[in-house]
Amino acid sequence: MSSPFISQQSFFKTNTQYRGRFAPSPSGDLHFGSLVAALGSFLQAKKNDGQWFVRIEDIDKPREQLGAAEQILATLNSFGMHWDTDSLTHSPTDNQRCIVQSQRIERYEHVLEHLITLDRIYACQCTRKQIKQLGDVYTGTCRDLCLPFKGNALRVQLPNVITAFEDVLHGMTHSAHSFAHEDFIVKRKDDLFAYQLVVVVDDIDQGITEVVRGADIMPLTCRQLSLYQLFDVPPPSYLHLPLAVNQSGLKLSKQNHASPINSANPKPELIKAFEFLSLPIHEQLQDLTVDELILWGIKHWDVSRLPKQQEIYVP
Ligand SMILES: [Zn+2]
Repeated sequence: MSSPFISQQSFFKTNTQYRGRFAPSPSGDLHFGSLVAALGSFLQAKKNDGQWFVRIEDIDKPREQLGAAEQILATLNSFGMHWDTDSLTHSPTDNQRCIVQSQRIERYEHVLEHLITLDRIYACQCTRKQIKQLGDVYTGTCRDLCLPFKGNALRVQLPNVITAFEDVLHGMTHSAHSFAHEDFIVKRKDDLFAYQLVVVVDDIDQGITEVVRGADIMPLTCRQLSLYQLFDVPPPSYLHLPLAVNQSGLKLSKQNHASPINSANPKPELIKAFEFLSLPIHEQLQDLTVDELILWGIKHWDVSRLPKQQEIYVP
């Protein structure tokens, strides 16, 4: 079976333009933490004369909140972050002109079929509780049991495991050995595709050259790089931004009841996000329009000035 990424390979060979992305999950409105991730990825793309795409990561349908995707896109527009589109990143039927994961199930099935043909996929019937009892790392209990795929979780067995990568901001970053070597789940028992697999397929299909995202996803990067290795596709570079946390050190998130950002009055939050990302803000910025603020942000964006902490408290 030929590689499911052949057309993308030729794209990589002919296209050297920077391509970045922001990939929110529609489980609620954008909050300050997700604004920082959106803004950081946007400014980095635009500073590099690149394109910036938005992808709705709604693969986990049970967690989706109705109308949240539309709300997120409207908020991005009101903050002056307008995304790019091209033939690689949207289907003719897609009226939002961005990639929506739930519309790509067939594509993920196709890639999974490819991995099955390569004999890299096996079914696993272990429960979360059983794995926890064995030290919380899956050690391949079901690898040779030849269990039926139907009704079981599907795991990938990697021929080459990546355990470290060079982060644009943090330099050489290592993953815990046992975590990197785990045969992780690519399709869940409930038939939903796992984030690890779809994020890699999407980034490859969109021709993403650099991933800018929150430091909370940093530990997963090596697993994703192992998949790139398996698919024989050159990986993007990675830049992990500091995470906005609350007083208890918890990530600002919908689950932790972070308040949504106010898209009716974007300027104060935008300036606060600039400050979080170490841009040299000053009083006169208040007088600029949102679009002027965004242009100022692109001009003053400087990766070398970014804070290197993985977490920053936001009052
Ligand atoms: Zn198992």
